[in-house]
Amino acid sequence: MLRFVILSLMLLTFSLGVYCKGEPSAPVTAESSVEKVVDVVCKMKIKPDDAMSSMHNGHRYHFCSDYCKEQFDANPAKYVK
Ligand SMILES: [Zn+2]
Repeated sequence: MLRFVILSLMLLTFSLGVYCKGEPSAPVTAESSVEKVVDVVCKMKIKPDDAMSSMHNGHRYHFCSDYCKEQFDANPAKYVK
């Protein structure tokens, strides 16, 4: 009888263990730690790492595309106050 109880408890513990492993863990995203910058031409938020950039008045501006960079380079004063 005692052996049956112990076996049941072991089975229960095992089942719980499996159940807990099945719980979805909170995904760890590096996304939130990456600082984003705003493309001053289209106002889109972009990651500086994969963006193109231009220097203007000693400040670096980042753009989502060649198009935005060209727009900025053609008339920086329009986008920078
Ligand atoms: Zn853009």
